[in-house]
Amino acid sequence: MAILMDGKALSDQVKAAIQADVLKITETRKPKLAVVLVGDDPASQIYVQSKIKACQQVGIESVAKVFDADITQIELLVALKRLNQDTTVDGILVQLPLPKHLDEQEVMLNISPEKDVDGFHPLNVGRLHLRQATFVPATPKGIIALIKAYNIDLEGKDVLVIGRSNLVGRPIAQLLLNENATVTIAHSRTQDLKQLTKAADVIVAAAGVMHLIQPDTIKAGVVLIDVGIHRDSNGKLTGDVAPSCYEKASYYTPVPKGVGPMTIAMLLKNTMQAYQRQVKQHEV
Ligand code: NAD
Repeated sequence: MAILMDGKALSDQVKAAIQADVLKITETRKPKLAVVLVGDDPASQIYVQSKIKACQQVGIESVAKVFDADITQIELLVALKRLNQDTTVDGILVQLPLPKHLDEQEVMLNISPEKDVDGFHPLNVGRLHLRQATFVPATPKGIIALIKAYNIDLEGKDVLVIGRSNLVGRPIAQLLLNENATVTIAHSRTQDLKQLTKAADVIVAAAGVMHLIQPDTIKAGVVLIDVGIHRDSNGKLTGDVAPSCYEKASYYTPVPKGVGPMTIAMLLKNTMQAYQRQVKQHEV
C-alpha cells in the first residue's frame, strides 16, 4: 500500500510550532516579513495574499509593498534599499516573475543576504552549494522536510530530479546530494527520460508538465515527489505525476496538499530564522 505524504498535516504542525515560538518572544518587536509585488498579475496577487495570510496565522507581522507595473528599476532598487535598512523588517521577498523591463538578477542582488528569505541572492545560492548555513529556498526545503518526516532514507539512493530551474530543480538536487543520494538531473533536452524514470528509487517531478510521469514509466516501490501544479480539464488541481501512478509507489505526495503547503511553512521558518539572527546581532 502506497503511503500518502501529507504535506498539509506536516505544514500545520510546522506552523503551530512557529506560532508557539512567536508567542514565547519576549522582545518588544515581533518577526516581520516584507513582500514586494510589482504589477497586477492575478496569480502573483494570490501568492502574495496567501503568504500574508500565513504570516497572520502564526503571529508574524507582514507588510505588502505593491508597486505599479511600470516602476523603474532604480525606483524598485531604492524601495529595496529602504527595506534592507529598516531594522523592523527581518525578511524580504520579491514576488516573481517581475515585468519584463526589470532585471530580476539585479533585483535579487539588491536584497540584503541576511533578509533574503527566498534564498535567491547569489551569495545564499553559493552558500547552499558549499553546504554552509544559509536560507534554503522554501519549496526544496519543504520537500526535504517531508522526506525526513516520513523517515525515507536517501543515502545511496538513485534520485531523479526532473527540472533544472533556479527555483526548484537546482536547489533540490543540491540538497539531495547533501543527503548522500546519487542525483541525476533531467531537463527539457534529456534524450531518454523514460529510461531514467524507470531506474529511479525517488523521483522529484518539477518539469511543469501535467501528468508527465505515467505508471508504465516508473518502477514498483518508487517514492514520488510531485512539485507540479496544474489545472486539469475539469478545473481540478493536479501535478506532474498522473494519480494512476500512486498505487505503484511506496510513498507519494498528492496535489494539492503535498509539496505546496510545505512551501509556505518553510517561508515562515526562514522568516523566523532571519528574525532570530537579527535579534542576536543587536544583543549587547
Ligand atoms: P520552470 O518552467 O522554471 O522549469 C521547468 C524545468 O523542467 C526546466 O528546467 C525544463 O528544462 C524542465 N522540463 C520541461 N519539460 C520537460 C520535459 N518534458 N522533460 C524533462 N524536463 C522538462 O518551472 P519551475 O519554476 O521549476 O516549476 C516547475 C513546476 O512546479 C511548475 O508546475 C510550477 O507551477 C510548480 N511549482 C510548485 C511549487 C509548489 O510550492 N508546489 C513551487 C514552485 C513551482
